[in-house]
This record gives sequence, structure tokens and C-alpha cells, in this order.
Amino acid sequence: MKEEKQAQPIEKHHEQPDNLSRLKKLESDELVNKYFQTTYQPPNLKKARKRLKQDVNVHYDYEIPSDMQSIGKDKTFYIRTYGCQMNEHDTEVMAGLMTAMGYQATDQMKQADVILLNTCAIRENAENKVFGELGHIKPLKKENPDLIVAICGCMSQEESVVNRLLQKHPFVDLIFGTHNIHRLPELIKEAMFSKAMVVEVWSKEGDIIENLPKKRQGKLKAWVNIMYGCDKFCTYCIVPYTRGKERSRLPDDVIAEVKELAQQGYKEVTLLGQNVNAYGKDLPFTYGLGQLMEALTEIDIPRIRFTTSHPRDFDDHLIDVLARGRNLLDHIHLPVQSGSNEILRIMARRHTREDYLALVKKIRERMPEATLTTDIIVGFPNETEAQFEETLQLVEMVGFEHAFTFIYSPREGTPAAKWQDDVPMQVKKERLNRLNALVNKQSRAAMEQYVGEVVTVLVEGESRKDAEVLSGYTERNKLVNFKGSKTLIGQMVPVKITEAKTWSLLGEEI
Ligand code: SF4
Repeated sequence: MKEEKQAQPIEKHHEQPDNLSRLKKLESDELVNKYFQTTYQPPNLKKARKRLKQDVNVHYDYEIPSDMQSIGKDKTFYIRTYGCQMNEHDTEVMAGLMTAMGYQATDQMKQADVILLNTCAIRENAENKVFGELGHIKPLKKENPDLIVAICGCMSQEESVVNRLLQKHPFVDLIFGTHNIHRLPELIKEAMFSKAMVVEVWSKEGDIIENLPKKRQGKLKAWVNIMYGCDKFCTYCIVPYTRGKERSRLPDDVIAEVKELAQQGYKEVTLLGQNVNAYGKDLPFTYGLGQLMEALTEIDIPRIRFTTSHPRDFDDHLIDVLARGRNLLDHIHLPVQSGSNEILRIMARRHTREDYLALVKKIRERMPEATLTTDIIVGFPNETEAQFEETLQLVEMVGFEHAFTFIYSPREGTPAAKWQDDVPMQVKKERLNRLNALVNKQSRAAMEQYVGEVVTVLVEGESRKDAEVLSGYTERNKLVNFKGSKTLIGQMVPVKITEAKTWSLLGEEI
């Protein structure tokens, strides 16, 4: 990685004839010329696999162009976010950029002058929701032709999505990719003055742009990106193509951001990355997540979490640092995806069932109280009943207290999407139900162990269902509801647990 503290021009990439010709197979020249402007570079599997050798540049010179600093005066923006915490945090950056341009946030889509849909590509269902939403937005655009409709996030990085938008949703004004967020001011300006749809999606592997303005959603909990992208190339996953190569922020930049959050009164920070355990592997000096977490224990902020982990990069030093506790929470989200070695092999997960169980054993030895949660995919192509049962066994052996469970959803452009699949959807659904029943049983059993215990709750606000009740989370990420004064909001409060439910705990302030 090259560190460039001096002012550097932000790199720009321009239209590639190759990519245009790829579009032409789906679009007529006329349609492309009419609706397609600026740059479009769809992700490329071959190029993506060669990318590890490329340098990453860090830019510190970000500024909103002077002619855009008040362009949003008396105007509003609305952002709808789909998908993971990375997207939630990208939304905070986009909200920061829009605010710095003079726009005000609105929670009423109908009133907005700019609508941004920050999309997710991880499952087909997430994509369908976005196309459904566009159906609702179309009449708004008819009523107000000056409205700017923008599509960004992971879906924008997919060639098929861009083509579908060009063909079926020409009222969309702007499409931009995950590597182009910092260009939002220039893109809004282009969209304002262009009659054609503005498309700017770079398939470049991405640099790191520091000092982007952020408008954080909360005052207690904050997300901090520690790295971007993923180089694991699991065969079902679109992320390595939509988010680019693994690239770590410099430790000093992460530490400075967490210190600033502590000074601002934040109580909890979640370090974000698609595979945070690979943090530092791309840095030109030896440094890993363990060292970063160690440095962060020195900062006066009560709680630090991280997500998401990959078992392969979870090293002993990190376990040692986490076991020392202090402000590092002992909740570990460790996606396993399957309990079958054969399925793990064709998923290209780069770990076996035995590797995973050995890692869990190490974690349990050093951190007996740690809560483990996971992600599991059911019905991967040609998964047999016996292979699925190996997953159920593993869930029981590890004793996961929660799991995000999904039916496999093919993603165009990934290797697995080309494979034949002999598992009927009905069988996949039935397997998902069986898995969920087991996970729920374990979650409930874990919750029941808290009855009679005193836990520390970071009180976030009133419960959604009852304004008399306060809600917050424990160190192990358990939702607790209890009656108390609103003055407790924002504080760490000891609560005695009186009743357990499957997903939450009830208690009394002590
Ligand atoms: S490690 Fe996670 S983000 Fe990376 S390719 Fe695998 S599933 Fe996708």
C-alpha cells in the first residue's frame, strides 16, 4: 500500500471500448448512446483474480467541489438502504456528502428532491425489492421531472442490473458503483444537467478515500470501516466482484476515528469489513486485527465489536487479545455456511468442518463465556440430505446462539450460478425450517441461562412496542427490555433478568 499524505488528484477512469461492446450485445447502439454516459466497467472475473498485485492508494485530500457546496440549499434527499452494515455505513457517508452540499435529510420519499437507493446484491430477493421500489418511484418522477433518482450500492456493479435499468427504467437519472461514492457531488451535478442517464461504475479495485464527511445515524453506536473488499472468492458470493480487493485502512486512521468517536461520547464501535480477520494482510508492514484491537483497548470507549469474520484468518493472537477482554466484547460472529466438508470444498470456503471445530475449541478454551453466532446457507447446489444433516450436527456441537440462515440464491457472474442443481425448492424450504427450529431452540436455551443474572445494558431508547419500556443490548448482543426512566437512555445500566424469550430478555433495573 502506498501512503499519499500530500494532495493528490483523485484518479479518474474513462470509458473502455471493450465494455461498451459488451453492452452492445444486449443494447442497441442507439439505446446506449441515448442513455449511457460517462464510465462503465462491469466486474471481470479474470481481472479480479489477478488483482492481488495491485497497489492501493490512500487519498487524504477530499473536498466537496466549491460549486457544489450549496447546490442543495432548500432541497431534501432521501436514502433507502438495503443489505448489510457496510451499506448502512456507506449510507452515512452519502448522507454526509449530501448534507455538505446543503441538502437536508427527509424521511418522506415523496417530498425528496433526490432519492438514492443504496442496493444489495447478495440475494435475488434483495434485488427484486429494489425493482419493486422503482415501480413506486416512477409516478413521483412523472409528477416532478426535476427529481433525481439514483441507484448505487452493490447492484450497480452488476452488468445485468445496469442493462435492465437502461432498458426498463430509463427514468432513473444516475447509476454509480461502490467505488464511486466520493464522486457523488460531481455525479449529482451531471445528473442535474444531463438529459441522458449518467452511469459511473468502476470495476477498478478501489482506493481508500479518507476524510469523507459522515452523517451518523445514532449518537451511541457507530460503525468504523477497517477494510474494504474481499479476496476469498467463495463460489456463491458476488462481494469480491462488487466491492473489489481486500484493502486495509492504515491503523493510525482507524485509531484516530475511534478516538474521535470516544471524544464525541459514543459508547460502542463496530469495526466493519467483509472479512475483518484479513485486516492488515495487504499492508506493507506486519500488522493484523489482533494488533489493531490491542491498540483500541487503550481508547476510553466502553464497547468494541467487529464483523464479519472468516474462520481461515482468525489467528491465535486475536483470540489472546479478545480473551483479555477490557472493552472488547466476547460476541463472535463466525460464518460457517455448511457443516459438510464436500459442500465447503465446492463453496471454496478454504476451511473444513474440522478446522472450524478446532477454532471454536480454541476460542472456548480462552473465552469460555463467548457467544458464537453464524451464517448458514441451506440447499447449496446438489446438497444431499446427509450433507445437510452434517450441518445440523455442527450447529448442535458448536451451540450457536443465533444464526442467519438462507436458502442458496444463485448470483449471476459467480461460478456456482452456472452449476446444475438437483435439490427441489420444496426440499430446500423444508431443510431451512428444520435448521431454524434447531437454532431457535438453542437461542431460547441460551436466553434462559440469563434468568436471575445481572447484565449490563447499553440503553438505546424506548421499546418499539411500549413507550414505557426501555431497550438495549448486553455485551453479548442480547436484546433486553425493562421499565425505567428515560434519563437512562445512553447509559450503561445494570439489569436483573426476570424472563427469557426466544429473541429477547425481560428484566428490572437494579
Ligand atoms: S468471505 Fe464472505 S464476502 Fe468474501 S467471498 Fe466469501 S462469503 Fe463473500
